[in-house]
Amino acid sequence: MGKRYYCDYCDKTMVASPSIVRTHNKGVVHQKLVSDHYQKYKDPKTILREESNKKPCVRFARGECQFGGICRFSHYTQEQINALKQYVAAQESTKLNADQPSFEDLYQKLQTEKTTKSQTNEGTAMYDYNGVTHVFPWVYNPVFDSFGDSLPPSLKRLQIDDFLNTTFTDWG
Ligand SMILES: [Zn+2]
Ligand SMILES: [Zn+2]
Repeated sequence: MGKRYYCDYCDKTMVASPSIVRTHNKGVVHQKLVSDHYQKYKDPKTILREESNKKPCVRFARGECQFGGICRFSHYTQEQINALKQYVAAQESTKLNADQPSFEDLYQKLQTEKTTKSQTNEGTAMYDYNGVTHVFPWVYNPVFDSFGDSLPPSLKRLQIDDFLNTTFTDWG
């Protein structure tokens, strides 16, 4: 007795000759069982996408389709497709909610961003007493700070008070 080949999907043994196995694997019965097998592991989203692209199977509706999972028409009824749609939509929304950061996370992130920003953009941003941020289009060279009061007024670092106590002169 020669070697035997066993097909898991079909629960069938046959002579282990390459041509016999190849013919078996091409067979409708085998392909149907393989497809049924993998259909069980497909996620609803994949099934929905596949089935939405197919036209409904007329033969299957009459109970006459022999192709099962390998039929190029859909064996899902409109009701089943709708149920799948609802299921997938519900799954998506729970996923979305899970991905949403909590208020604490957002607040923490904002605080970190504020700190790193004021460090990297030193001198270009200023927070006034109303909590409004003013961003200056230039960067103050910190070297000037070491000269203190000996600097000409135009090179002194601007302080918030300089803006608050400004009196505007009317030019004629
Ligand atoms: Zn098989
Ligand atoms: Zn069919």
